[in-house]
Amino acid sequence: MNKESIYGLTFEQLEAWLLPHGYTKFWAQRIWNSLYRERVTNFDAMTDVKPECVQLLKEHFVMHTLQEHVKQESADGTIKFLFKLTDGNLIETVMMRHKFGLSVCVTTQVGCNIGCSFCASGLLKKTRDLSSGEIVEQIMNVQRALDEAGKREKVSHIVVMGIGEPFDNFENLMDFLKVVIDQKGLEIAARHITVSTSGLADKIYAFTDTKIPVNLAISLHAPTNELRTQIMKINKAIPLEKLMDAVDYYLENTNRRITFEYILLKDVNDQVEHALELAELIGHKKQYVNLIPYNPVDEHGQYQRSTPEAIMAFYDTLKKKGINCVVRQEHGTDIDAACGQLRSKQIQKAKQ
Ligand code: SAH
Ligand code: SF4
Repeated sequence: MNKESIYGLTFEQLEAWLLPHGYTKFWAQRIWNSLYRERVTNFDAMTDVKPECVQLLKEHFVMHTLQEHVKQESADGTIKFLFKLTDGNLIETVMMRHKFGLSVCVTTQVGCNIGCSFCASGLLKKTRDLSSGEIVEQIMNVQRALDEAGKREKVSHIVVMGIGEPFDNFENLMDFLKVVIDQKGLEIAARHITVSTSGLADKIYAFTDTKIPVNLAISLHAPTNELRTQIMKINKAIPLEKLMDAVDYYLENTNRRITFEYILLKDVNDQVEHALELAELIGHKKQYVNLIPYNPVDEHGQYQRSTPEAIMAFYDTLKKKGINCVVRQEHGTDIDAACGQLRSKQIQKAKQ
């Protein structure tokens, strides 16, 4: 059987695993210090941990389940990684540079079953969920690349917006979040982390109840059921009424705002009337709106990017209605940084 990644364990899980082997919390702390502060690259480099304990870890866990397959750097500093998993599947991770820090976009599944009509990831059905270790290792690999560059830079933000529907891999996602925000480890501020979902309502309730204080973004993309179902078939099973009830539960039980993502598709959902309907739907909620210029996907030829004029008119309409909205800045368009695009290209290449 394949050994599990040590990065998949939350601190409490590691502590519980060590105890029957005779090692107290003190040792869990030392191990975490080696993994996340010193960021050792192999077990033998854990010099603060007793050799017998290191041996025990080596017998049961691995440190590397991701192998760098492709790394592309863009003119704007964006770096896109394609990692090969132990079973040969490929996943992608993107690091972006912003004024406010360094953010990493992580993948949560191999493919995605939600199948939104505009998305490259949904073209490839889900093969499997990523383990929590495979998700944490994406951050660790990016962080190690930064460590090696020697500029003392640290990943400061995370967006769970890569391939996959994070809430369709709920438990592993929660463990991942617990690991990266833990103050004994990487200590990435929870308020700097955003999970994006296509709107799995029951999981929005469950996520709210975990009280893990990271931000939530909803891929809304349309203001009415008719239009949303046309773009995202998940809306048939979970219509806007159900989704908005779950959003209200989140807002009532946290003191955070929620982000609504809205891809602008030319002549489909980008008219002023849509902006007015959107304002009507979410105007009274504590929200932000992220307007996303569509990144054309070859296989979804029916959609085009909205014109800059349409984007501005949409933005202005929302602003006039008092909505907090921004047009998302784009990163790495020269290196296929849109979700799933590099991966789907590599897979096509492999098929040729
Ligand atoms: N499955 C989750 C998270 C991953 S997708 C979700 O759907 O929310 C992250 C964001 O990228 C979503 O808002 C998604 O709608 C958007 N997206 C997908 N394909 C895109 C494309 N071609 N251009 C721009 N945004 C895209
Ligand atoms: Fe899946 Fe999100 Fe793409 Fe929809 S937009 S297919 S939910 S990854």
